[in-house]
Amino acid sequence: MVGWLENDALLLVSACLLGMCTAYDGGSSLHPRLQALATQGRTVPLCPEVAGGLPVPRPPAEIQGGEGADVLDGRACVVTADGQDVTAQYLAGAQAALAAARRFGLCRAILKSRSPSCGAGQIYDGTFSRRLRPGDGVTAALLKREGIAVHTEEEEGENDAMSKQIVECVPNFSEGRRQKAIDAIAAVIGRVSGVKVLDVKPDADHNRTVVTFIGQPQAVEEAAFQGVAEAAELIDMDVHQGEHPRVGAADVVPFVPIQGVSLDDCVAMAARLGARVGSELEIPVYLYEAAATNPARRNLADVRRGEYEGLKHEIAFNPAREPDFGPKRMGKAGATIIGARPPLIAFNVTLAATDVSVAKKIARAVRHSSGGLRYVKALGLSVEGQAQVSLNLTDYRRTPIHRVMEMIRREAARYGVGVASSEIIGLVPQRALLDAALYYLQLDGFAPDQVLESRLVEG
Ligand code: SF4
Repeated sequence: MVGWLENDALLLVSACLLGMCTAYDGGSSLHPRLQALATQGRTVPLCPEVAGGLPVPRPPAEIQGGEGADVLDGRACVVTADGQDVTAQYLAGAQAALAAARRFGLCRAILKSRSPSCGAGQIYDGTFSRRLRPGDGVTAALLKREGIAVHTEEEEGENDAMSKQIVECVPNFSEGRRQKAIDAIAAVIGRVSGVKVLDVKPDADHNRTVVTFIGQPQAVEEAAFQGVAEAAELIDMDVHQGEHPRVGAADVVPFVPIQGVSLDDCVAMAARLGARVGSELEIPVYLYEAAATNPARRNLADVRRGEYEGLKHEIAFNPAREPDFGPKRMGKAGATIIGARPPLIAFNVTLAATDVSVAKKIARAVRHSSGGLRYVKALGLSVEGQAQVSLNLTDYRRTPIHRVMEMIRREAARYGVGVASSEIIGLVPQRALLDAALYYLQLDGFAPDQVLESRLVEG
């Protein structure tokens, strides 16, 4: 069943997977690899629900009383969330898909997973609770019955060696207060097929939201573009206020290699996305960190100097502020800083002390900018009355967590203070924790694939 993208056969494809806005809510589920096939003229797009006469947008619908085959046989029906029976339209759409397949002599279809029309293998269970049940949608069932092979875009991802490649993207958007806008940005990202949104963290004081998502490189790059475009539509930097420094609606977009990709791959992604944002959205783009085109742009704080208001003024006449891509002028979306970096670990160490000056002294000793460890940024804070060293480890492979921890312990001992606890904020690569375990257990010759769970994931 693998290999349908590699041979030259024409494929029937759900229209929404090709970026057409046919979904019930007016959106799409763009699948970049299928879209690439469409540009080569290898797809026949069709939305069964629209072909069956339903409008866009329309109320969501699910099959009740069975699955697609039962609908074909009159034993189940398709009902909208507000109680309308739309079985006739679903049947008409399935017939339209079959007719298209016959007209073009197609023997294979790639359809959108889980849909009551297009889903194959599992579909929503009819309770509108996003729970799934085994079965096919109405169109998928009819095509299968007529001898047409049906796959979903998710199968395509599973069967492809590319799916072993994972990139994380952690864009920061300059909106942390209007929930509707935050939801809209996260939704366009999540709609790109092959992308999983792991976290959406708004901060009202900073008026900023950090979205974390992962997926295969092409999908992540497409989702990042969609997020930047949506933010440019929804956020007006002329009225934006917040505590956090920022230059644009989509302020910072870093790509992070997680599995099967290198930092260089992420640099290439940053450059491609930057060129596209600059030309298609006419937003000035600066490349930073590993993607920086000159050393002065490696450090994010330097690129963001002067913030939106200052950069808006300087961009036109100061050659040092000329963007890497896009126009030398800023509209209401401001500028976007795009880059590539290793995974960053946010790590806090709480001291068994209340005197914040001890935490500040330790932070100064540990952080690179004041003579401490490379790839470590640190601040001394008071958190709920306890002294805390708050750290960002910008390259855990070169300066691992345990080395930082041991240095903090030694410095703290100098002031007669111990470590009370530590915490990791957000997500952490497994390898970082494994390295710490190896160090403290003094394990020799241990290979990462000795971790039982890693074998399960491979399996
Ligand atoms: Fe249309 Fe199928 Fe996509 Fe639903 S899943 S919008 S029916 S193409």
